[in-house]
Amino acid sequence: MSASIDLHSHSTASDGRLRPAALVARAAAQGVTTLALTDHDTTAGVPEAAAAAREAGIRLVPGVEISTTWARRDFHIVGLGVDTDHSGLQAALAEIRALRGQRARAIGDKLARHGMPGAHAGASALAGDAAVTRSHYASWLVAQGHVDTPNEAFHKWLRKSKPAGVSVRWLDMGEAVARIREAGGVAVLAHPLAYKLTGAWMRRVLGAFREAGGEAMEVACGTRPQSVDVARLAEWARRYQLLASQGSDFHHPDNPWLELGRLPPLPQDLTPVWNHPSLCNAAS
Ligand code: MN
Ligand code: MN
Ligand code: MN
Repeated sequence: MSASIDLHSHSTASDGRLRPAALVARAAAQGVTTLALTDHDTTAGVPEAAAAAREAGIRLVPGVEISTTWARRDFHIVGLGVDTDHSGLQAALAEIRALRGQRARAIGDKLARHGMPGAHAGASALAGDAAVTRSHYASWLVAQGHVDTPNEAFHKWLRKSKPAGVSVRWLDMGEAVARIREAGGVAVLAHPLAYKLTGAWMRRVLGAFREAGGEAMEVACGTRPQSVDVARLAEWARRYQLLASQGSDFHHPDNPWLELGRLPPLPQDLTPVWNHPSLCNAAS
C-alpha cells in the first residue's frame, strides 16, 4: 500500500517538465493513489493538480518544497498538507522567488562573461511562467552544446564554487518550518543524504529542525533507491523521533529508473507521515 504513496514531485510550475494535470495522470497510471505536488517555492500548480486528481480518482496533497539556509548551508524543506491560501506562507514563498530571480540574472551575467551570451533569455524561455532555476540553465547549456549533460552543467558551471555559481541566502530553515506549520502543514526534511553531511552535521541539523517544529524526514527517496540508504535514514528518523516520508522527487520522464511511486518500502517500525492528523484531513 505504501508503494502507491508519493509525497515529493515537481511540475512545470517549478522545474518539472510535465504540467500539473499530466503529472497527476502519469501518477495515476503508475498506480499512485496519493500524490503530493511539491514544486520549488510555489503552490501555483496545486489547483490544476487537484482538479486532475479528482478526475483521476486519486488523492492530491497540496505541498511545496522550500529553499532554506541554516548555518550557511542549503536545505530543502517540504511542506505537506499546507493551506495554499495562507498569506504568511505565500509571502515567504514570494520572497524566495524574488531571490531566485536575482540569482538567475546573476548566473546569466556570469555565463555571458564566459562567452555564453543569451543564457538568461534562453533559460527564461525554458522556464515559461515558472521561476528560472539552475535546472533550466543546465538544460539551456545542454541545448546549446556547451556541455553534454545537465549533470556536467552543474559540475562545470553552476555549482557554488564554479565559474557561474552564485550563492544565495535562502529563507532561514526555522522560519520555513514555522510558515509551513502556520499554514496547517507538516514540515519534512527532504532527501537528507543529498547534503553529504558528516554524522556530526546530521545531528546538528536534525536537532535544529526538530527544535524548530519539524516533524518528519524523507526516508525513502526515488533518487537513492538503495536499501542501505533507507536503513541509514531510518536510523536517523528513530533517533530524532521523526515521522517517515517517502517521495520520488520526480521531475521528468527521462530517467528510466526514477518513476512516480517507485520507492523502496519504509521499515515497518517507523510511523509514516501520512498518519499525521494534518495529512489525514488534507485530501482534496
Ligand atoms: Mn528541482
Ligand atoms: Mn530538493
Ligand atoms: Mn524536489
